[in-house]
Amino acid sequence: MPTSVSHALAAGAIGAILAPATTTRRYWIVGVACAVAVDLDAIGRPFGYPDIAFVGGHRALTHSLPFAVALGAVATIAFFRGRSWDGHRWRIAAYLTLATASHGLLDLLTTRGQGVGLLMPFNWIRYEAAWRPVRGLNELWIVWLPLMATIWVARGLRSRTAAVRA
Ligand SMILES: [Zn+2]
Repeated sequence: MPTSVSHALAAGAIGAILAPATTTRRYWIVGVACAVAVDLDAIGRPFGYPDIAFVGGHRALTHSLPFAVALGAVATIAFFRGRSWDGHRWRIAAYLTLATASHGLLDLLTTRGQGVGLLMPFNWIRYEAAWRPVRGLNELWIVWLPLMATIWVARGLRSRTAAVRA
């Protein structure tokens, strides 16, 4: 499965593309937390406990697109209440939803692990991608590098746009 670093970088890339003109540390931390928290369904593994059954086990409900929409909405309401976020909440909700959804979609691209319940709880099929290029160390160059490049380009374009406006 992709490492938490991959999921955090995916959130960073989506956040860099959707960032409002000014962001705070909270913006980045909540996005990364949404993307990484999806794996809490398997939190017992390092301690020898089974996956959390009431969410369907690993790569089930927490990895689904409906869950991403719900978590994106709840996290936006919970963490972006202040007036400084007025006018930005739809964009932030989209960012948090996509950051969360990116986790299950990235998991689809791996050769290891079971299929992903992308549409749970509406259907309990576990999907597998026909093309699963992520295996072992190649994650570094086929996931990390493109995501880091995306962050770099998005931030560069943003600061350029800000400089033109100034
Ligand atoms: Zn996962």
